Amino acid sequence: MDYISDKCKTVDASGIRSIWALAESMTDPVNFTIGAPDFGPSAEVRQAAIDAIQNGYNSYTQSGGLDELKRAIASQFQAEFGWPQSHVLISAGLSGALLLAFMSTLNDGDEVLIPDPYFLMYPQHVRYLGGRCVFIDTYPDFHLDPVRLRSAITERSKILVLNSPANPTGMMNSDEQLQEIAETAREHQLLVISDEIYREFSYDSVPVSIARYYENTLVMRGFSKSYGVPGWRLGYVAATDSLAELIDRMTTLQQYSFVCAPHPFQRAAIKAMESDMSREIARYKIKRDMIYEGLKDHFTMVKPEGAFYAFIEAPGGDATAFVKEAIAKHDVLTIPGSVFSQQDTHFRLSFATNEEQIEKGIRRLSRLAQAYMKKP
Ligand code: PLP
Repeated sequence: MDYISDKCKTVDASGIRSIWALAESMTDPVNFTIGAPDFGPSAEVRQAAIDAIQNGYNSYTQSGGLDELKRAIASQFQAEFGWPQSHVLISAGLSGALLLAFMSTLNDGDEVLIPDPYFLMYPQHVRYLGGRCVFIDTYPDFHLDPVRLRSAITERSKILVLNSPANPTGMMNSDEQLQEIAETAREHQLLVISDEIYREFSYDSVPVSIARYYENTLVMRGFSKSYGVPGWRLGYVAATDSLAELIDRMTTLQQYSFVCAPHPFQRAAIKAMESDMSREIARYKIKRDMIYEGLKDHFTMVKPEGAFYAFIEAPGGDATAFVKEAIAKHDVLTIPGSVFSQQDTHFRLSFATNEEQIEKGIRRLSRLAQAYMKKP
């Protein structure tokens, strides 16, 4: 008897699994695949979590989350977007919010516009729920071109997913680009899902959200990356009045699935929101500079503006072959672009590791790039 549903079989993780399998043979690996920062929460925030547990905050919360945390988030959005009232749902990570959003909106055949390259969870969720992914090519600079966006829109287009700063490219949408995208979204009444999980990791400019220009936006943010607590499973989604019913529906689905986000960590998150992470972010800007300065003369690459990834063209044009060679001959682990894209020409390098590893990795990758240049 095959117990696995046809739907479940649409979810495929084989690309990344085969890379992990190869990595098992590495002896002195430089691991450039990590998707979480190498810092943890501050002592104060850790203590707030401990206190919450010790003080008995171990029950469920309301499905939508703790009022005090929701109020702190709402006041952030009031300051940023001038929203008089925010509708907020505290979710089990940003991933939880994403799943609930797609569950609450997609009918069979509805089209979701996804700039390519993309965070690998988006197409998996969409396909699983019967939606259709429409990928919009953003190579070579990874900015969403408004002309390409317009030409991808059809009668069935329902959602546009934005991710800035982006995984896997480190790209950020500028204020001007967002205004143009917002205009197109309004014209076609698209729902915009704006994944802003890397918001704090913005190195050269202040991050802007499309929610400033377009009201039908679900703003998604989280604590995993910015406060170094990915295992706490804490994120949130917020919208203004025009999407109040959608947030309500998502909250109902949370009630029947995740139930609520972890209670003690919701309490600690209130403390986390007060903490200043600028020193940690400044260190990440230095790492970004190390990677870019160290590799730009050996590879074709765009300077990442945010997040902690660089998406680099693979010498030879076949990213999977390049990544396999980097593992086998140089003990450097990266992820081939095909995991995040419809094409396999680039590889993702995460610089969420220490400076020593970054230096070692740059030396090894540069040697490998030179070896490719010598190839006939
Ligand atoms: N969105 C993007 C673009 C990510 O890269 C990640 C994690 O890697 C997530 C969402 C998931 O975040 P969370 O830990 O809050 O579920």
